[in-house]
Amino acid sequence: MFKVSSFTKYLVALSMVSPAIAGAQTKKVERPPQYVLFAFDGSYTNSVWQYSRDFSKDQQQNRNADVKFTYFINPVYLLYKDTTGAADSRRFYRAPAPYKGSAIGFGDSKEDVSERVDQMNDAYLEGHEIGSHAVGHFDGSVWSEEAWTAEFTEFYTILDNVFKFNGLRPTSKQNRGLLFRNEIYGFRAPLLGFSKGMWPVLPKFGIRYDTSLKNNENYWPTRNKFGTWDFPLAQIKEPNGARTWVSMDYNFCVRDTASLRKANPATDRLGANKPGIDCYKTVTAEQKAQVKKNMLNLYRTYFARNYYGNRAPVHIGHHFSNWMSGAYMEVFYEFANEVCSKPEVRCGTYTSLMNFVESKSAKEIAAYQAGAFDKMPAPKSMKIDRHWDLAIAMKADDQKMNFELKGADAQRPGLKQIITVNGKNTEIKGEITLENIRKMGAYGEDTKVRIAVEDRLGKEVQTATFKVEGLGTDKEKISSENIEEKWNDGHLAGAHDEENDTHGH
Ligand SMILES: [Zn+2]
Repeated sequence: MFKVSSFTKYLVALSMVSPAIAGAQTKKVERPPQYVLFAFDGSYTNSVWQYSRDFSKDQQQNRNADVKFTYFINPVYLLYKDTTGAADSRRFYRAPAPYKGSAIGFGDSKEDVSERVDQMNDAYLEGHEIGSHAVGHFDGSVWSEEAWTAEFTEFYTILDNVFKFNGLRPTSKQNRGLLFRNEIYGFRAPLLGFSKGMWPVLPKFGIRYDTSLKNNENYWPTRNKFGTWDFPLAQIKEPNGARTWVSMDYNFCVRDTASLRKANPATDRLGANKPGIDCYKTVTAEQKAQVKKNMLNLYRTYFARNYYGNRAPVHIGHHFSNWMSGAYMEVFYEFANEVCSKPEVRCGTYTSLMNFVESKSAKEIAAYQAGAFDKMPAPKSMKIDRHWDLAIAMKADDQKMNFELKGADAQRPGLKQIITVNGKNTEIKGEITLENIRKMGAYGEDTKVRIAVEDRLGKEVQTATFKVEGLGTDKEKISSENIEEKWNDGHLAGAHDEENDTHGH
């Protein structure tokens, strides 16, 4: 059922891992295990609960691998919206202002909620972990400490009253309620959106670690001043290219969508210039293979750098969603299948990582960070291509947009610059006139101008996207903000929109 591929086979394609430099004064410690954390945001799709649990059992039985997941749940899916118009349980959640309702929908029916309760309990009993993804999936970056307190209070109130609120009679299997209720230690902020007011609230509700931040691939966890562990997503540096990728499926989806549009604008059913962010739900087999290969390559690189390097935990954050015809979902499981049975790898829950780091002194963690231990020798054949130093600087006046390539790799021969506007591509050399952009774009609309730098083989190595408001009108305005920087900045609005036609997660 799960494709087995040889780990060493792909390592042939990777290049030398640069040895992490141990601090000269750091005393050597024992080599730590390689933690790999696989987490899901959401909780809506019961078939994903079932599949992931089955995968874990299959790994145990057939690969002798102990794979445990952490599920960051939204209790709006423990309430339901009744489409027949009958009384439903949505009213039991009140979102903190300025929000109302839920950003990601609700459960479908009493029966649907009941099944989800069983899935969550069974996952917990099988050794997986349940964490919190807040309730209504709102962007908390505007919330005060009081609002965060209200949201967490709602979270537990729904868990504690799930049967009452839904008019459900607990089955014999359910009569002890939600079994994980008092073992929720972890949090990921929806949209990775938080405010200063969030941090003091987390420990008050028993949250001991947070997964809402981003950091370097080789980051070893530390605690903030409230005592909360920081288990961030990684910013993966692509080999043989200059971009970084957040180790979360949705962020891949946003960038991959832009690349696919450029490669095949004529068949872009979403509309090449559609504002906002869209993840393709279905793609061709060829496109699927392309995005899968890219993500697998980046995850493998991330893993290899750490496994043969300083052993910093590897964080993979995905959703209950089948974007790109399921490409990311497949990579999630294929990657787990590849790495979790390797020596010294622990594909455990976030709490297992927390227990590990809490058993170590700050000095030991500092020694890990410095890589002050005998590293696992990388296979001689292993190659990881270098990450490029290449940035795009844009300057605009009322006549043109000028793009300057900066960094050590900017002078490489054979680099091409391709501009994509409104589903049309054109090659440029450093600048494009507004007149030409107007010819490609749609009059009066906000228009995205994307520049891709391609290497001599046509592979994108750096990209940037800028917005021109009111193209061609007297209100025409070029924004200097590269909106792709947001794509490196966590998981974005709309992350749960395409789970199915009506729901988030
Ligand atoms: Zn989310």
